[in-house]
Amino acid sequence: SPTPVHVLITGAAGQIGYALAPQVCRGAMLGADVPIVLHLLDIPPAEASLKGVAMELTDAAYPLLKGIVATVDVDEACKGVDIAVMVGGFPRGPGMERKEVMSKNVAIYKGQASALETHANAGCKVVVVANPANTNALILSNYAPKIPKENVTCLTRLDHNRALGQVSEKTGAPVSEVKNVIIWGNHSSTQYPDVNHGEVSGMPIRSAIGDDAYLDGEFVKTVQQRGAAIIAARKLSSALSAASSVCDHVRDWVNGTAPGTWTSMGVVSPGGDDAYGIEEGLMYSFPVTCANGRWSIVPGLKIDDRSRGLMDATAAELKEEKAMAEELIAA
Ligand code: NDP
Repeated sequence: SPTPVHVLITGAAGQIGYALAPQVCRGAMLGADVPIVLHLLDIPPAEASLKGVAMELTDAAYPLLKGIVATVDVDEACKGVDIAVMVGGFPRGPGMERKEVMSKNVAIYKGQASALETHANAGCKVVVVANPANTNALILSNYAPKIPKENVTCLTRLDHNRALGQVSEKTGAPVSEVKNVIIWGNHSSTQYPDVNHGEVSGMPIRSAIGDDAYLDGEFVKTVQQRGAAIIAARKLSSALSAASSVCDHVRDWVNGTAPGTWTSMGVVSPGGDDAYGIEEGLMYSFPVTCANGRWSIVPGLKIDDRSRGLMDATAAELKEEKAMAEELIAA
């Protein structure tokens, strides 16, 4: 039988962790025939709860689940890991400054980077979910120089899927008929959900919807603020859809995107024209295709002036976050 893939989930006792672990065990991330070993990490105050999650996973008797490592020791958690999903992070509490949250997360991601670099398997793929996701991923990458830069990514797939969902609702076409939307930039409210190259049932989205004011206004706002809308409705965050989109992100990365289809991923910008002029070294969400376990930015899309402005604005925010993180590290 095939060797199991070792999947690390940090913050595993949290909301997203609780929704994600069972999806991974059902094969939604790596396939219905790929055995896995789950590595679940959380912090000492969550140890009992983490143990409870591990107990439930045992009780679910998943045929694909070949082992569980549930621990509060980051070195133990990272040993022999092939896929690392970084969900744990310091949450932004009411009234907290962005810089305060950033400083907590810089410390966390610096530490976890070293543990991954030392203990993870060569070729380990990393996806960061915890906010500020792009900048946490950048810190992780900088402090784990032995992990190839292209193996560290952040999640914008939920935003991408939200955009697909909105186009589906608006047109009445099933979501499987909608493709090639793009999330540019930061996983924050400055992200730019772009439908200019997307299709619904083989037709350009703009022609199918026929309402540019909606697509440039309400649509963008709805996608950007969907997380807050779900918290308002559920009184809890959007853990189910976040977990589902983590599985989509890793599955497409490992197994490849469908022909003629791309997805959105936060990846380190290689700079230059191939990266649509986005500064080298920013962790920025681009349209990408994946094949053989590698992503490539979709080349040659025509960018209009309006899009250019929005892409640059979200890049500017990322540049500012990067500078803030660097300042905190130097301090
Ligand atoms: P969640 O599982 O709901 O969220 C975890 C992280 O994912 C948060 O940073 C959250 O950002 C981010 N996130 C990204 N996209 C989404 C989305 N669509 N919906 C919701 N969250 C999203 O948080 P919990 O508090 O339930 O769990 C966090 C876990 O992390 C806990 O078990 C805790 O013990 C652990 N933790 C680990 C730390 C460490 O490793 N040192 C430090 C602190 C906590 P946002 O905050 O912006 O919603």
